Amino acid sequence: MKPAPFAYYRPTSLADTLAILERYGDDGRILAGGQSLVPALNMRLATPAALIDINRVPGLDGISLEPERLVIGALARHEAVEYSSLVARHAPLIVQAMPHVGHRAIRTRGTVGGSVALADPAAELPACLLALDGVIRMAGRAGDREVPAVDFFRGVYTTALGQGEIVTAVVVPPIRLGWRSRFVELARRHGDFALVGLAAHCRVEGDLIREARLAFCGVGSTPVRALRAELALAGRRPAVDVVAEAGRALDADLDPPGDTHGSPAFRRRLARVLLGQAVAALTSEASQL
Ligand SMILES: Cc1cc2nc3c(=O)[nH]c(=O)nc-3n(C[C@H](O)[C@H](O)[C@H](O)COP(=O)(O)OP(=O)(O)OC[C@H]3O[C@@H](n4cnc5c(N)ncnc54)[C@H](O)[C@@H]3O)c2cc1C
Repeated sequence: MKPAPFAYYRPTSLADTLAILERYGDDGRILAGGQSLVPALNMRLATPAALIDINRVPGLDGISLEPERLVIGALARHEAVEYSSLVARHAPLIVQAMPHVGHRAIRTRGTVGGSVALADPAAELPACLLALDGVIRMAGRAGDREVPAVDFFRGVYTTALGQGEIVTAVVVPPIRLGWRSRFVELARRHGDFALVGLAAHCRVEGDLIREARLAFCGVGSTPVRALRAELALAGRRPAVDVVAEAGRALDADLDPPGDTHGSPAFRRRLARVLLGQAVAALTSEASQL
């Protein structure tokens, strides 16, 4: 199939982008990497009156360190994030997650802003932002605002983005001393969306997990924090019985959907396995290097 006809704009400033977006309202769609939107257009799952291509808007693709905040621009490609030394140093969880996003060709085009704006519940980056207490920066004609990841992702493909707003960046606090990160997931084939994924960010002291932040993808309509499992791990040595207890706590934390790829029971089991893998990696000698 071919897309339904649409007007095409390629603004060169944020102000022009917002003006066009305001003019079209719900009928205008931002085009970033196009990795999700273009297939949707081709299948006529999306039929916007206008596409607003932001690839020539300057200043949206940077990766920078502000005081106490790592800022990744909305137009930063997944691949640029994957190979960024700044992200590796200050948000290693995100670097670990990137190779799981589609295939390399997709990552050379797909963007950070597109990933959070799309809000696929199985996507890796939203789970990382939740685990890291990140925020999403947005711009609109009424001004800029920031929304914490926990409030931004509202449902399947649904976010806190208001009409006429665009994502301009994601912001995470740089990793602090004593904290370690691990991203693990299982997909049916490399490059597929995760059946279940886990973004784990923990404060580790010797062989103790002092604090744990666990965010899963693929287990609900949004990325999900596993608060009971976090409590079950906090302040304890992750011996087999402690990890098993945290795994049981996941049953109360997660209410995964079933589909042709896996039943809810399968996803629960997978979440437990991933938790065990992440905890083992976080507390291993190698992860202390
Ligand atoms: C085969 C395949 C496998 C994939 N596997 C994965 C995977 O495992 N994990 C994963 O996370 N993703 C995966 N993706 C999706 C891919 O990573 C996309 O890059 C991502 O979902 C959207 O980014 P994009 O820049 O391509 O956005 P686009 O396709 O350009 O846009 C997607 C949506 O976001 C909106 N949008 C884009 N940028 C902004 C912005 N700055 N502000 C407001 N709205 C905006 C668009 O209007 C559109 O509605 C896969 C894609 C393919 C084709």
